[in-house]
Order: sequence, then C-alpha cells, then structure tokens
Amino acid sequence: MKEFGFKKETATGRYLDPFNGFQEKQVDFELRYDEITGVACHVLPYRLRLAQKPDVDAYLEKSPESLCSFCPGLFEKLTPKYTPDINPTGKFQCGEAYHFPNAFPYDQNNGVAIFSARHLVYLNELTPAFMHDGFRVCGDYFHRLAEMNLRYKYCSINWNYMPPAGGGMIHPHLQTIAGRKPSSFMQRLLTSAQNYSVATGNNLWQSLIQWEKETKERFIASTGIISWLASFAPKGMAGEIDFIFREKTSFFELTEANFAELLDGLARVFRYLYVSNFISFNMVLYAPLLSDRNFWVQGKIVPRFVVNPLGTSDINYFEKLHNEIICPVVPEELCRELQPYFNQSPV
Ligand SMILES: [Zn+2]
Repeated sequence: MKEFGFKKETATGRYLDPFNGFQEKQVDFELRYDEITGVACHVLPYRLRLAQKPDVDAYLEKSPESLCSFCPGLFEKLTPKYTPDINPTGKFQCGEAYHFPNAFPYDQNNGVAIFSARHLVYLNELTPAFMHDGFRVCGDYFHRLAEMNLRYKYCSINWNYMPPAGGGMIHPHLQTIAGRKPSSFMQRLLTSAQNYSVATGNNLWQSLIQWEKETKERFIASTGIISWLASFAPKGMAGEIDFIFREKTSFFELTEANFAELLDGLARVFRYLYVSNFISFNMVLYAPLLSDRNFWVQGKIVPRFVVNPLGTSDINYFEKLHNEIICPVVPEELCRELQPYFNQSPV
C-alpha cells in the first residue's frame, strides 16, 4: 500500500446524541489521501442511498426539444462550425453524431459532440450502440488535429450527463479538450507516473493494477485490456470508478475494439447507476496525443446527485474550498456492488 502513497487513518467524532437520550455517541471515519492524484477524502461509515429516482421528465418542461439547439429543428441554425481548414463541411459527422466547436468555449480547443438527434436519453439507454458514433466523431476530430500537425500533446473526452453533473443541456453530449498543456489534474497524474518511473523503474499504472488485482479490495473487473477499479480516494460524494487501458500510451493507439470494450464497460457502470437511482454523472477520458510511455490512457466516472427536498448540491465548502471530499460510500463496498454488473452477459 505504501508503494503508491495510499494513506489511511481513522478519526473519531464525538457528540451527545439527541436521538438516544443525549448519550455519548462516537462516529468513526477514515481520512484517506492518494498521492497519485492528490485527492484527500473523508470516507464516512453511513452509506449513501438514494431512496427515489429523481424525476428526469421534469427537466423536459424547462428544456423542451423545441428550444434545444442540439435537436434537428435548431441544430443547423444554432450550432457553430469549424473553419474550412479544420473541416470543409464545418462539422465532423458519423451517422446522427456530430462534433463541432463549443459556442461557449473555455479552452483554446473546446468541442462538443452529440450522439444522435434524440433529446432525452435515459441513463439505462446509454448503450454501446447509442454511444458509439458520439465517441467516434471525437476521435475523428483528434485525428484531424494530428493531421494538421499542431503539436498538441494532450486531449480529453468529457461528459456532464444531466444537470446535477453540470450538464447545461439535457440532450446528451460530450465535450473535448485538446492542446499543448494538460489540465492541472492530468498534469498531476503525468507527474506521479514520471516520478514513480524514476524512483522504481516501473510503470505506475502497471504496478497499481497489479496491486489492486492482488489485494482484491477495489479491483472491479478486467474486460480485456481495460481494468476497472473503484478509486481508493474518490473525487465525488458517491464514489469514483476508474478505468485504465493497459499499455495504451496515446489516444491514437486505441483501436475500434478498444473503444467497443470501453463502451461496453461504461454501459455496465451506467446500468448500476440507473438501478441505484442515480440520474447523473461526470465522465472523463484522459489521453496523450503524443505517446508518453509513463502514462496509460485512462478515465473516471463520478456519479452525481442533488439532495432533496431542496435540490442541495453534492459539492459544498469542504470540497470546493478545502479540497477535501466527503464520501459516504466506502470504495471497497462500491467495488463489490459493481462486480456483478461486469459478470452479466454483454449489454
Ligand atoms: Zn435536444
């Protein structure tokens, strides 16, 4: 455990309990710190369970198809296009999926991809077949950037699914980022991998996967070249699921079969989230555009939710202003709950 800088200690909170005659009550929790990611997390013993699935259809009233710029009625009129040097038709297309520039960019190269013309797609409908073309057009865009020889080194594919995760539109869409510099979090992963390589001569991700596989605490499944793990110190209140592509050191090393494996695994995770009454998640795929032998292409899924009746955010001052995550989901339990979804027949 020490090898990867996974640190864990137990702390205790004490109070006089109003629900038990003001007898002294102790609550034990774990303080975890992951040196690879720099994430500090307080894992609480009370289990987060969402008693009811929030009403997804209620979003439709506020955001109907008729007002959606990703739906066929407004799509051509209201979505930006690439300049002809990048794509002469303005958009990357595959089937009903399109990739185009973000109308509200927050990075030099910030694109958006829709999967299809469908406005509202429920979590249990995010099948590999549905997701395929959306990921494909993101890949086509990255290939075009490489062709243009812009010397971009890093890219990511990102997803805010539904408003609790920051999704500004309910019409499912991915977002891409590409550029010469990685995001600060991806930089952290790159630096950790490089430091580990210098210190040990080994690949961090290979060692991590090996360790998780042997200890069997957070290793959800291997689906081929992808290992699926529950994160030791999650970045979200409902835990975090990680996936790592073995020996894939750049986006362009991913084959069609590798993507099929990714989408199959994602659909399994989404099915688990659906059954567990979630309606929302963030997802990322981090990848170098130029091969980096210390880094393996990888990603994360963080389930998101609001707390009713007030629609309270699952992010508060502790995470926002102290970088400490409160997690009422024990990662090792999350792993055990997800495992059966990876044993079922393909989705
Ligand atoms: Zn729409």
